[in-house]
Amino acid sequence: VTDIRAMIHQICYDAKALSGEQGHEFNVSIGDRHLLTGDESQLRSAFSNLIFNAVKYTPAGGSITVIWETDRDGGHLSVKDTGIGIDPVHIPRLTERFYRADPSRHKETGGTGLGLAIVKHVLLNHDGNLEIRSQIGDGSEFICHFPRERLAERLPETAS
Ligand code: ATP
Ligand code: MG
Repeated sequence: VTDIRAMIHQICYDAKALSGEQGHEFNVSIGDRHLLTGDESQLRSAFSNLIFNAVKYTPAGGSITVIWETDRDGGHLSVKDTGIGIDPVHIPRLTERFYRADPSRHKETGGTGLGLAIVKHVLLNHDGNLEIRSQIGDGSEFICHFPRERLAERLPETAS
């Protein structure tokens, strides 16, 4: 069982270090039911990829909003930024290995194009899926959906 709340706070702490003097603003909101049945290191790698991407593709001073919410269908983690955005024509291919949108726009940002392929596979391993919403110049939102069956009631240590 993974505690989403603790994990997201850790990742955002590291992401602030990555942002450094760029001074991105971080807004984090985690709902009350924040335990998920799943592989902790896989989930950490998926969520870090999304949150580090948000820093990488958002100019200095932009903001990054991370929200975990549950509803009757399950739970979802939204990672939203006010960054450069993505031309919607690229969206269907973004989770392919080595695919990078319009590389000319990324002269200064290194990367291999594997991050979102990892995210997709981690979500598949957890019966979930990735939703991507973006427009050029209007920021991006990546939403990780998990089914209700993945929500856990308590950490194993505290189970009676
Ligand atoms: P890597 O993650 O392997 O270091 P990468 O960041 O280029 O390299 P992905 O994380 O798979 O690779 O992302 C694929 C492409 O999707 C990126 O090259 C970029 O074009 C686009 N992208 C991903 N996240 C964002 C975002 N938050 N805003 C704008 N574009 C993004
Ligand atoms: Mg990346």
